[in-house]
Order: sequence, then structure tokens, then C-alpha cells
Amino acid sequence: MQLSYRPRYSIVIPVYNEAENLAELQRRLSAVMAQLDGPTECVLVNDGSRDTSLAQMRQLRQQDPRFCYVSLARNFGHQIAVTAGLHHVRGQAVIIMDADLQDPPELIPEMLAAWRSGFAVVYAKRRQRRSESWFKRLCAYGFYRVLRQLSDVDIPTDSGDFCLLDRQVVTALNAMPERVRYLRGLRSWVGYRQTAIAFERDPRYAGSVKYTFRKSLKLATNGIVSFSQVPLRLSTYVGLLAACVAIFMVCLILYWRLFIPNSPLTGFTLILVAIFFLGAVQLVSIGILGEYVGRIYEEVKGRPLYTIGETAGFETISARGRL
Ligand code: UDP
Ligand code: MG
Repeated sequence: MQLSYRPRYSIVIPVYNEAENLAELQRRLSAVMAQLDGPTECVLVNDGSRDTSLAQMRQLRQQDPRFCYVSLARNFGHQIAVTAGLHHVRGQAVIIMDADLQDPPELIPEMLAAWRSGFAVVYAKRRQRRSESWFKRLCAYGFYRVLRQLSDVDIPTDSGDFCLLDRQVVTALNAMPERVRYLRGLRSWVGYRQTAIAFERDPRYAGSVKYTFRKSLKLATNGIVSFSQVPLRLSTYVGLLAACVAIFMVCLILYWRLFIPNSPLTGFTLILVAIFFLGAVQLVSIGILGEYVGRIYEEVKGRPLYTIGETAGFETISARGRL
């Protein structure tokens, strides 16, 4: 079964082991899609799930031709899964949301209203994160503010990937060749008229968090390294500071030696502290440098962003070229 019309709205949903959520997701999405004033497609991106998610997607597709799917050949991570979805969507307005129903689909009509009034990017801003642990809330709070300070691009705080993008923005994002993708930043980088809608982020409908601490840390590092060069300069500043401290200490030692007999200073401890301090500064600097060099290496390899196992619902694309 094929859609015989070109969808006006597209919804991209990355899915990684979300079998328990898909039925409820379909139920709530169908209710929302029924209210929309134009044809809608829903692009599910299977990010290498190991549960029955893919089988459920095939079934969903059979029941409702508005659901299409792209199945990646392995787990490539959330940001790449969304990117794969953006490469496939055909709508004029594209909504990105999670599969765990933490992003309420009922917000979509409100986002579309803002889009119709002329905004190219409508992002959802979390009012509260009651459902998450205090540690995660603290990290997120700190991270968004540090990133904002460090970055030249105005990246809004407390907004995740739940957003609406105009076709113009999707085209701009799809033209970006970079492999390390921090979509929240790229979305701000493109410019255009942007606005926020505040919302309460619900707890997960079912299943466990797929963004492990390691994945979150990687996302945060990618965000900072992709959008700021301040960490690179940091080592220069710390180096200068260490030089000032060293000069001050030389003066202090000279003063003690020349004017204070039997000074309490023991050279050994001082040297040890200095060695440890400078060693630490140097290692951290090399580490920071490594983060950037690693990304250059990643980009230079020029591998494709992802590999696709199977797709369904995009046959019209290959027949007629990209819509
Ligand atoms: N996800 C994904 N690949 C991954 C990890 C997560 O596609 O490697 C998807 C997941 O299925 C969900 C969304 O990304 O739809 C957000 O994940 P999660 O709910 O675990 O993160 P959080 O809500 O804590 O940001
Ligand atoms: Mg979630």
C-alpha cells in the first residue's frame, strides 16, 4: 500500500528497543494526526533495536500506510537515527520526537500553529524535569549553561530534540556533511525565525532509559567540542596562569633566602607539588587537544553516517527522485 499523495507533515521518531511503547505511541499519534489539516507521514527510525521493535514497525506499516520506517543496520545512536529520518522525510513541516512518549504528541498542533505564523524552527522547552533524578537534572542544568557561555551560537537552554523544523531548515541540515552531529546546536546554527513552546516533560511511558550516562556524556562533549573552541584556548590560559604562579614563587623564594634566615621552606615539597600541578595541566591539555583531533580524524575518514538494513514506505522516492 502506498500513499498516493505527498505528505505535508512528517514526524520523525528514533526507536531503540522501544517495543513496549510503540502501540501506545501509535494510538496517541493517530489521535493527533486525525486533527491535522494535511496529509501526514510518520517516519520511524529503528536504531538497531534488539527487541521486537522492527517487527512491530512492519506490522504498523501494514495497518496504516502513513507509517514508514527506516531500519539502520546497527545502533548508531540517537542523533544519527534522527539524521537518517531527516534524510527520508517528505513533508513541509517536520516534527522530531522521542518514542517513549516523554514528548507529548498533543503538542504538535500548537507547534504547527507557530509554524504557520511564520516560524521556521519551533522547539519545545522543558518547564520542569520532575520525572528525572536530581543528578541528571543538575548535570543538564549545568551543561546547558556552560554550553551557552562557551558557544558562539545562541543555543537555547533546557530544550531537547523535540521540535518542528521547516523544510528549509531540513534542507540546510541535510546539506551539512559533518559526522559528529549535535542537532540542537545545528538547529540553532542555521538561523531563521525560531521560537519556543514551554511544556512539561512526562515520565517515560514504559521501558528503561536508552541514553546511558556514557551516551549522555558523549552527547555533551560533542555539543561543546562542535560549538566552541574555548576549551582549546583554556590550556593557553592555564599555562599563562601557571607561569605567573612560578614567577611569583621565584620572587618569594629569593626573598626568603636573602632576607629571612632559617626559612621554613622545604624545596622538596614545593618541587613535588609543582611537578604534579604541571603534569596535570599538561595531561588535561593533551586530552582536550585529543578531543578535537579525534573529531578531525572522524570527519576526514569520510565514512557514511549510517548504513540501512531495510526501509518501507519510500518507494515513491526512488521511483520519482527525491520529492
Ligand atoms: N534512542 C536511539 N538510539 C540510542 C538511544 C536512544 O534511537 O542509541 C532513542 C530512544 O528510543 C528514544 C530517544 O532516542 O526514542 C530518547 O532516548 P531516551 O528516552 O532513552 O533518552 P532521554 O529521554 O533520557 O533523553
Ligand atoms: Mg526519554
